[in-house]
Amino acid sequence: VQLTFLGATGTVTGSKYLLTTQGKQFLVDCGLFQGLKELRLKNWEPLPIDPRSIDAVILTHAHIDHSGYIPLLVKNGFRGRIYCSRATRDLCSILLPDSGYLHEEDARRANKYGYSKHKPALPLYTKQEAEIAMDYFYSVDFGKNYKLDDGVIFHLNRAGHIMGSSFVTLKFGNKLLVFSGDLGRMYDPVIKPPAILQFTDYLVIESTYGDRLHGNIAVEDQICDIVNRTLNRDGTVLIPSFAVGRTQNLMYYLNLLKKTGRIPDVPIYLDSPLAIEATKVFCSHIEEQRLSHKACQEVSRIAHYASTCEQSKAIDANNTAKIIISASGMATGGRVLHHLKVFVTDPKNTILFAGYQAEDTRGDRMVRGEKEIKIHGEIFPVRAEIALLHNISAHADYDEILQWLSHFKKPPRKVFITHGEEHAAKSLQIKIQQRFGWQCIVPQFLHKESL
Ligand SMILES: [Zn+2]
Repeated sequence: VQLTFLGATGTVTGSKYLLTTQGKQFLVDCGLFQGLKELRLKNWEPLPIDPRSIDAVILTHAHIDHSGYIPLLVKNGFRGRIYCSRATRDLCSILLPDSGYLHEEDARRANKYGYSKHKPALPLYTKQEAEIAMDYFYSVDFGKNYKLDDGVIFHLNRAGHIMGSSFVTLKFGNKLLVFSGDLGRMYDPVIKPPAILQFTDYLVIESTYGDRLHGNIAVEDQICDIVNRTLNRDGTVLIPSFAVGRTQNLMYYLNLLKKTGRIPDVPIYLDSPLAIEATKVFCSHIEEQRLSHKACQEVSRIAHYASTCEQSKAIDANNTAKIIISASGMATGGRVLHHLKVFVTDPKNTILFAGYQAEDTRGDRMVRGEKEIKIHGEIFPVRAEIALLHNISAHADYDEILQWLSHFKKPPRKVFITHGEEHAAKSLQIKIQQRFGWQCIVPQFLHKESL
């Protein structure tokens, strides 16, 4: 079996791993490159392999940097099965069409303002193409073996990162190969913890936080302080949030704080069609949660849902103190921009960012203290308090990664460190070598390895 790294090398996006056996080819993950323009341009380059020659895809989870290339793969002729967990399939059925819609919007904007060198600018794929791709999904149960071809079987185990997230274990001959996908955390309040794995010959491990620690600040205490401080000023807390996972965790914490009387009973609004859909998936996949069905329902009822644009506008129409959760998480787009325009200029309000802000996004610039921001071509002074939640990440930090690795009963023959910026991946490599003495490499783009 040959393993080729087609993405997530030197970056945290574009996860794609090609497995070539005698006569067949499989992909593990099929993600989009995101972030900086030079990375996004890579999505437009043809794959080093003809999609028609790929027999099947296995997805670790639904995040776009792991699944977002699927519609393009199908558009370019892939006709095999896409295997994943049930919750991953349900999340992909909302995230992929949304991704298609955003690509169409980008193309429309580029045509309107003429900033594309292509005339006309075209979307990478459309919402409809993403919907067509869903026909190829085939959901599987955790812990059960599935046959890819005569010599290769696979199974999934929980990875604890978001709903449905999985480790993929492939077995060929008497060898095991494990893909961690994104590794979650042992103590997330909502989602079930990652499974403990004890044996593998080869391991592909992520390293998003390969050089960082989350610290031990209790998230609920931090939210409690920020909310009370803002409400005492009669202000509003606006939380730009990520639709899947983060939003449901925030709703869990807000419910907890309200129930225990630590924050006042002010209205909470969830204003993001995508986050509302993701919350429905959250309630329908109780097997993914630590929470009971009743607790899930309670958490989902903490917010008023704004589905339509009118409902969204109505939130800002009155002046009463409130909490608004809205996407996108780094304030790069979406409905949160409309709320930002209303709330960012008044010092009584707080803009609370719910975790890591990628470099040079609007969120990152505000967290770094910029005094003005531009939204839809207009300049707004930043007078509201700007806050950032720590320790709410869905990724294991390096201590947690090492702890998860410590359960392996015998050293893997080789560990491949991916899905991290170069310094993070290299830093994790050194830590694994020092602690366990295992052979680790940080593969480059298109690196090939015979297993
Ligand atoms: Zn992820």
